[in-house]
Amino acid sequence: MTPNLLVLGGTSEASDLARELASRNLQATLSYAGRVARPRRQPLPCRVGGFGGVEGLASYLRDNRITHLIDATHPFAAQISRNAVAASALAGVPLLALTRPPWKPQAGDDWLEVPDISAAVAALSGPAQRVMLAVGRQPLAAFAAQPQHHYLLRVVDEPESPPPLPNHSLVVSRGPFTEAEDAALLRRHRISLLVAKNAGGRGAVAKLTAARSLGLRVILIARPPLPARREVESVEAVCAWLDHGASTETVAERGV
Ligand code: NAP
Repeated sequence: MTPNLLVLGGTSEASDLARELASRNLQATLSYAGRVARPRRQPLPCRVGGFGGVEGLASYLRDNRITHLIDATHPFAAQISRNAVAASALAGVPLLALTRPPWKPQAGDDWLEVPDISAAVAALSGPAQRVMLAVGRQPLAAFAAQPQHHYLLRVVDEPESPPPLPNHSLVVSRGPFTEAEDAALLRRHRISLLVAKNAGGRGAVAKLTAARSLGLRVILIARPPLPARREVESVEAVCAWLDHGASTETVAERGV
């Protein structure tokens, strides 16, 4: 059967994979949630928007005769990743996750690692500080429980409604950023504390290396738990799976 891939994207890793698949002339579609107004141009056909839960994704896989499902979404995009595991089993389409190891503290880092957003909010109790809040748009409201801080927010698109934090500065800018750019941003806004998700990978690491170089404290939020699934950490490993493993893989082998 001719391979026909669906790649769940929205990350630099998915864009790297899209380039490689296109260069191999493989039939593949890249899927975006539709959170960003103007997604990056891609060398593959793209579709945009949710599938309608597990059933919707399983139907999409069947209706479009998808042979391989690749989850290259962000490690904090837990819902779509859980849906991918369930839909892969429902539709009998092998699933591979392209992910990245979490960041680990290095010499010079001053990190407080917390399990989730509510623990990060709790860790912000205390006197007012200037905080860079690099957690994406969705969890911002939770930080209104610590209104004493001035929050620096960086977003890809100008928000339609003001962020739900009384005291903030907004920077509209699309990454990836360099360490020098992020160090300049942190200095310009006189930031003393960074709150970030432990995304791993290279696309968003600059703010952490910048915080290290400036000696800033960091509250780092751990990834949400995901069901067992087959995972790799490089585009080459995805290609090896396509070349050697996936075509012969049975449903029983998934989830390893
Ligand atoms: P999420 O909470 O896991 O997913 C919520 C719903 O959005 C899913 O149930 C699905 O809707 C839809 N969805 C998510 N990713 C999709 C995709 N690639 N293609 C089609 N539908 C998708 O997701 P999220 O955290 O909001 O992230 C959304 C997107 O932004 C993902 O593509 C992710 O890679 C990217 N992103 C997320 C973060 C982050 O911190 N969460 C950071 C950078 C990039 P249905 O149930 O209707 O199918």
